[in-house]
Amino acid sequence: PPLSVADIRKSFLDFFESKGHTVVPSSPLVPGNDPTLMFTNSGMVQFKDVFLGTDKRPYVRAASVQACLRAGGKHNDLENVGYTARHHTFFEMLGNWSFGDYFKRESIEWGWELLTQVYGLPPEKLTATVYHEDDEAYDIWTKVIGLPPERVIRINDNKGGKYKSDNFWMMADTGPCGPCSEIFYDHGPHIPGGPPGSPDEDGDRFIEIWNHVFMQFEMHEDGSVTPLPAPCVDTGMGLERLAAILQHVHSNYEIDLFERLIQAASEATGCADLAHPSLKVIADHIRATAFLVSDGVIPSNEGRGYVQRRIIRRAIRHGYKLGQKKPFFHKLVPVLVELMGAAYPRLQAEGRRVEEVLKAEEERFFETLANGMEILDDALIAGRKELPGHVAFKLHDTYGFPLDLTQDVCRERGVTVDVAGFDEAMAAQKAAGRAAGKFKMDKAVDYSGGANVFTGYDELSSASKIIAIYQDGVP
Ligand code: ATP
Ligand code: MG
Ligand code: MG
Ligand code: MG
Repeated sequence: PPLSVADIRKSFLDFFESKGHTVVPSSPLVPGNDPTLMFTNSGMVQFKDVFLGTDKRPYVRAASVQACLRAGGKHNDLENVGYTARHHTFFEMLGNWSFGDYFKRESIEWGWELLTQVYGLPPEKLTATVYHEDDEAYDIWTKVIGLPPERVIRINDNKGGKYKSDNFWMMADTGPCGPCSEIFYDHGPHIPGGPPGSPDEDGDRFIEIWNHVFMQFEMHEDGSVTPLPAPCVDTGMGLERLAAILQHVHSNYEIDLFERLIQAASEATGCADLAHPSLKVIADHIRATAFLVSDGVIPSNEGRGYVQRRIIRRAIRHGYKLGQKKPFFHKLVPVLVELMGAAYPRLQAEGRRVEEVLKAEEERFFETLANGMEILDDALIAGRKELPGHVAFKLHDTYGFPLDLTQDVCRERGVTVDVAGFDEAMAAQKAAGRAAGKFKMDKAVDYSGGANVFTGYDELSSASKIIAIYQDGVP
């Protein structure tokens, strides 16, 4: 039988343990060592200070299965959920690291060995990318591994500038950086999408499974790079994407774990159509929000808590769309704990509290949801292509609809939202409030970001400033 998600976690760690790696547990979704980062969004976050040289570990090789969240920061996949086969908000990243120990050759060779020999993936379905200047990685793929040159793709500086590339990784504007090599799996010509580097690479035919980052330079203020004395390796592979391949399905949402969650979402919402996109969204969002609560994030109107609130309310709205008029979302928690509690002891321990927190937030939002939806439906009159900003703002201000929730509804109906108008309404209300002396405001607040659903904000400090201008959405 195909490997389950649980089998894959174990086999990955066993493999790297056999190659001399120390297995390190997943760190919390709220990074303990980095107040500027909203959420842990990759396996390397807990090792950041090791790469910067300010932390030392008793090992030079490590491996982990890391809980990650890509919502609300610079990496934001919230808008992809329900639309692509490969994106979640919460996902698990399998990773291995070298802290100044092995480098490109071992990383690529072991990666290949694991995929083709341990997991038995057919080599002809795998394609690799390298940074266009990285001849060393190119030669390892073509000469050591023996991949045909047409399946080793050099990726240029495709992000508008030297070293701005999908295949060049930077920790920040300055500091450790270097080329990456990524491995893609071809799900077959019946699925739309082109190979990496092609115009339709964002399709779901060639799915990126494993990123190997080779930290070999230090980036300076002037944009020049110098070699690092002890190059490092940082890799990350999406557990759900690998599981999809090993379980012979195309979408992450069809793997064993999601099959169970979607079944639970179907029971909780009464939607019998197991392929309904809203069930995928609910199944995705229960993981994100339950793990957030278990890591100490409760819904609120600022910072991490507001991202948490946005994800919960989005899930609730999808349930509402399926006919739910009463709290249903929290009912998925026991199933999630059953599925993931053994691998994540904090989730296991906090299960009851998670359920209570989610239920309370549901009760709160259900008070205004139906009325808000009515206003939104009325505003979306036939032929209207853009929702006026003042409507989106009213929904936000009076009915507790985060802007991205309104955008999610509108997107389903082929309508955009006038975000500039939303910002103006927000600014006008703030000015009026200030004139009336009703509340104190931070003068440094930047309105422009308020409606941008946090995209581009990785810093909690700026995100919470922006969020500070939000008034409580529920009267
Ligand atoms: P993509 O291009 O598909 O969005 P990425 O390049 O943003 O992926 P990386 O930052 O390189 O992803 O992360 C390493 C690995 O983590 C990816 O190769 C993929 O397997 C997995 N991964 C990244 N984002 C997600 C996500 N939102 N959901 C599930 N898995 C993900
Ligand atoms: Mg991405
Ligand atoms: Mg990518
Ligand atoms: Mg990548």
